[in-house]
Amino acid sequence: MHCQCVHEFGQPLRPDDRPDMTPQGTEVIVAITAAGVCHTDLHVREGGYHLGHGRRLDFASRGISLPRVMGHEIAGRIVALGPEAGDLDTSRGYVIYPWIGCGSCALCAGGNEQLCTSPRFLGIHVDGGYATQVRVPHPKYLYEIGDIAPENAAPLACSGLTAFGALKKVEHTLKARPPLIIGAGGLGLMCAHLLSALEARAPVFVDIDPVKRQAALAAGACAAIDPGAPDAVEQIHAAAGGAPLAAIDFVGAEATAELGFNAVDKGGTYVIVGLFGGAAPWALPFIALRSLTIQGSYTGSPQDFAELMALAREGRISAIPTTRYRLDEAEDVLNRLAEGRIVGRAILTDT
Ligand SMILES: [Zn+2]
Ligand SMILES: [Zn+2]
Repeated sequence: MHCQCVHEFGQPLRPDDRPDMTPQGTEVIVAITAAGVCHTDLHVREGGYHLGHGRRLDFASRGISLPRVMGHEIAGRIVALGPEAGDLDTSRGYVIYPWIGCGSCALCAGGNEQLCTSPRFLGIHVDGGYATQVRVPHPKYLYEIGDIAPENAAPLACSGLTAFGALKKVEHTLKARPPLIIGAGGLGLMCAHLLSALEARAPVFVDIDPVKRQAALAAGACAAIDPGAPDAVEQIHAAAGGAPLAAIDFVGAEATAELGFNAVDKGGTYVIVGLFGGAAPWALPFIALRSLTIQGSYTGSPQDFAELMALAREGRISAIPTTRYRLDEAEDVLNRLAEGRIVGRAILTDT
C-alpha cells in the first residue's frame, strides 16, 4: 500500500510504500476511495496548536507518535475482514467513524467515544486516510453510504458530524424557535442544511463578513445579522420572534461568546464548538440569575453519526462542494489550504 506520511513535525509529507495490510481479530481493512483534507491536518503536520500568549499545545507530548498517516475523513470499500469481524457486504461503499476511543472506559461505554481519554482517532493517533488502505479496529465503525458519492460521504465524518453533534445538544429547542448560529463558514452552513433536513426552524445567523451573511441566506437562514451593529442583540430577537432558546458558536472567540450569551433566552443554552480562543467574558452571577447552560461540543458520538448517515442516505443533506486531487498531491493541497486557496472541501482520491 501507498501513503503520504508525516515523518517529522513541521516538515513536508513524504511518500511511503508499505506491505498491504492484513486484518487481525475484529479488524477490517478498507481500500480508500476518498479522503478529505481538513484544517485539523495542518495542525497535525505542524505538531501542535498555538494557543496565543506565547503558549503552545504540543502533540508530541500528548502521545501522538511519528511517522503518522493523517486523514480522518475516509470513505472506501472493504478489502479484507479479520477472523472475528463477522459478515459485511464487501460490495458496498462505507464511510468510517474516525473518533475511535479505547472501547472500554466509562465514556466509551456511555456511547461517547469521541471524548475518550485514550483516543485512537484515525489520522491523528493511529494511521488514517492519506493512503490507499486504512485499518479499522471493528466493523461497527463502518457506515454504509448508499448512493452518496465517496467524496461527498467522507467529509460527513468531520464537518458534518461536528455540526450535527452541536445541533443534537439543543435538539429539543429546534422546532420551537429559530436557533442562533454564530459564524457562516463551512460548519455554520452545514448546520443550516441539517436544520432543514431535520424540518426545524430556519436559523438566524451572525457573521462579520457580508459575503458570508449572503451565503447564510442562500443556505436557508431566516436572517443574517452583522454582530458589529450596536443593536445586534435586538436584531437577533426581532428576527427569531423572541430571544433564541439556543445559540451555537462556531467561532469561539471572546466577542462571539459575549454575543451568544447575551442573545439567548433565560433558561437557554449556549453551545461552543469553535476553538478561536480567549477567556470567558461573562459575569458569573448572570449564569445563575438567567439559569443558562454553557455547553461544549466536540465532533459527535457514533449514535449521532448513525443518525446523520441515515439522513444523508435519504438524500436529505445537500452535498458541500468538493474538489478532487491525487493522493501524491497531498502536501501541495495542505499548503494551498493553509493559504486559503482551496475551494470547497479538498478530497484525495486515486480512483
Ligand atoms: Zn476534520
Ligand atoms: Zn475510552
